[in-house]
Amino acid sequence: MNRNSVSIAAVILLAALIVVAIVSTVPSHDDTETLYQVSTIDALLAGVYEGSHTIAEVKQHGDLGLGTLDALDGEMIVVDGTVYQVKYDGAVVVVPDTMTTPFVAVTWFDPDITREIAGPVNLTDLQTQLDSTYPSPNLFYAIRIDGVFSSVTTRSVPAQEKPYPPLVEVVKNQSVFEYADMQGTIVGFWSPAFVEGINVPGYHFHVISDDRTKGGHLLDCSIDRAVVQIDTTGGFFLDIPREGDFHAVDFGAGRGDELAQVER
Ligand SMILES: [Zn+2]
Repeated sequence: MNRNSVSIAAVILLAALIVVAIVSTVPSHDDTETLYQVSTIDALLAGVYEGSHTIAEVKQHGDLGLGTLDALDGEMIVVDGTVYQVKYDGAVVVVPDTMTTPFVAVTWFDPDITREIAGPVNLTDLQTQLDSTYPSPNLFYAIRIDGVFSSVTTRSVPAQEKPYPPLVEVVKNQSVFEYADMQGTIVGFWSPAFVEGINVPGYHFHVISDDRTKGGHLLDCSIDRAVVQIDTTGGFFLDIPREGDFHAVDFGAGRGDELAQVER
């Protein structure tokens, strides 16, 4: 090697080192401003309850969110990176990483807006207050509400067996829980109108008590006082199941009417 080729080699080596340095500074998890979702709400309404992604995979995409578990086995809530299952009988357990989910939405929670709420405020009033907080209705917002509630009404759903019935049939047998004087955390999302068919347009909340013994899909509540944190989320990543029932669903017919029934 002459002196020129040595210096060219040195430049190439230096360039390679810079590339390695840049690549190694890319965070190991998603952009914090992305909502990560497995499957679609219309697939769930159609009865696609077979888990397609493990809890371990989901945890790589966020630390706050909600969903359900394989076979529609109850309501799932993700708080501070821990995944909980609220079973049909109301029991709350931590979900092992090896379990799977057919539908979940999570994000890395990084709040942009914080508000205090002085009650009494019911769920409808809460939603009206939140509506006025957003810069635009056309973004996703991850919402966390830590508070004291004089009442909380939740539901959970029973695990299903194949052939899976549509969700609108399952919720006819949902259990409804009424809790008084609960301290806990509501977790959920505002999703824009354009996600119809993919997620729940508007609000979708799950809740869990501070002592992790009560929770479920939130139907109503009365807030005495609470701190609301909102994370504006501009990105959306849809992870479609690679195999299974999802691929055979007819998504041509809208399921908006069914969604209205199951969310109540
Ligand atoms: Zn729910």
